[in-house]
Amino acid sequence: MSTGIRQRSAAVAVDGAPSPLSRESGHLGRSLHVKAPAGVRRDGLRVVVVGGGISGLLTSIRCVLAGHRVVLLERGPVPHPGATSFDQHRALRALVVGDRAATRRAAELHRRWRELDALLCDHLPGAGLYWRVGVLQALPPGLIPAAVATASAAGVPLRIVHPSAYPLIGFPRGSGAVFEPHAGTLLADRVLHAAARWLRHHPDAELRPGREAVAVDPDQAKVHLADGTTVPGDVVLVAAGPWTAALVDRPVALHRQTMVYLRPPAALAHAWAATPTAGGLGADGRAWLLPSVAGTLLKVSTDAVRREVTTLSGPDDDAGWAARVLAAGVVSDVDGYDVVRVKHCHYATAEGGDTGFVRVGPAAWARPASGPDGFRTAPQAADAVVAELAGEALVPSIRKDLR
Ligand SMILES: Cc1cc2nc3c(=O)[nH]c(=O)nc-3n(C[C@H](O)[C@H](O)[C@H](O)COP(=O)(O)OP(=O)(O)OC[C@H]3O[C@@H](n4cnc5c(N)ncnc54)[C@H](O)[C@@H]3O)c2cc1C
Repeated sequence: MSTGIRQRSAAVAVDGAPSPLSRESGHLGRSLHVKAPAGVRRDGLRVVVVGGGISGLLTSIRCVLAGHRVVLLERGPVPHPGATSFDQHRALRALVVGDRAATRRAAELHRRWRELDALLCDHLPGAGLYWRVGVLQALPPGLIPAAVATASAAGVPLRIVHPSAYPLIGFPRGSGAVFEPHAGTLLADRVLHAAARWLRHHPDAELRPGREAVAVDPDQAKVHLADGTTVPGDVVLVAAGPWTAALVDRPVALHRQTMVYLRPPAALAHAWAATPTAGGLGADGRAWLLPSVAGTLLKVSTDAVRREVTTLSGPDDDAGWAARVLAAGVVSDVDGYDVVRVKHCHYATAEGGDTGFVRVGPAAWARPASGPDGFRTAPQAADAVVAELAGEALVPSIRKDLR
């Protein structure tokens, strides 16, 4: 039966160094046909991935690097400007005040994203997807010792700074601040483009844009499409962002948040390009900003405009929500800035807070609730599910005959 799925190439590029992605970084961009060393599986699964946001793209890359073949189905183009992940930037920080384990886990993401940066930009030297401009966190002065203790116990560098050093930013009255230098901003939409390009050039991956999944059979590993066709696999991974819950039976809460994109006055452009990502801002300490690094616009929002919704579409009061963001006091003298764009964006959360892939059937996993940190944590979610597949590959009931 012809499935339209390309056959695996006999050779993959892996050189045997320690971590899953660093092993290949520095090789795949230059050559996709390095002889596979001993230990690399040649009997990989055929994995059907639904969704081409950060979760779907990075999981596809990890699958390919693990020796599987991937077909990625995306209802729009790849990447899709309508994806949650498709934005100028996403913050990458480690410090969770009072939670050493979470801080340690998050700190590991710096290394993983540097590896990904090297892997995805291997053929585009200097492109740089991860801008380590640091992350500034405004805190009540009483919490600063706890922040320092958490960072120190987790091995995360942290400096106490004074808000007066950042005159462009609005801090809560009487606030202190800490600065995490090994943190920063991921250029999210550029990451998606680079990941899609990487997959497009890999013989074991096939991107299929314009394919909308309408149902998933988690027992038989089949995806039914809106055009009436069915795509079979050995395993299905559903990574359709906040739309995942429409395809798998997992209850989630949907959150909508409004972001405002500003162009700083020309005289301040240089200063903003060197300003860190920052949180805990504004009069009530709930606002945050991503600076205008690498030619992006300054982006501001506040958790005060995050609301639970029941639908991902429908009209909204752009002007009203934008006015609330601008009134939060995140930027000093905001009237001097041009409002270039207002955008609403969604993420899903699940009870219990699980943000990884969960098993939804014998032959299917889904990431239904990637949450408010789902971009930066996508590499860990991808690693975890691909590690699970490594065990499943040996189970005959899951693995059909390789076609
Ligand atoms: C305002 C805001 C700020 C955020 N800030 C941060 C941050 O600073 N740091 C951070 O780490 N995270 C942040 N997040 C969260 C993060 O953006 C998301 O968790 C993450 O991008 C989700 O990625 P995803 O790939 O799971 O989903 P998506 O990016 O939404 O990708 C899903 C893809 O699936 C496709 N799709 C949907 N349905 C179907 C279907 N039926 N068939 C085929 N394709 C389908 C979609 O078109 C889309 O391309 C933020 C979220 C919001 C809303």
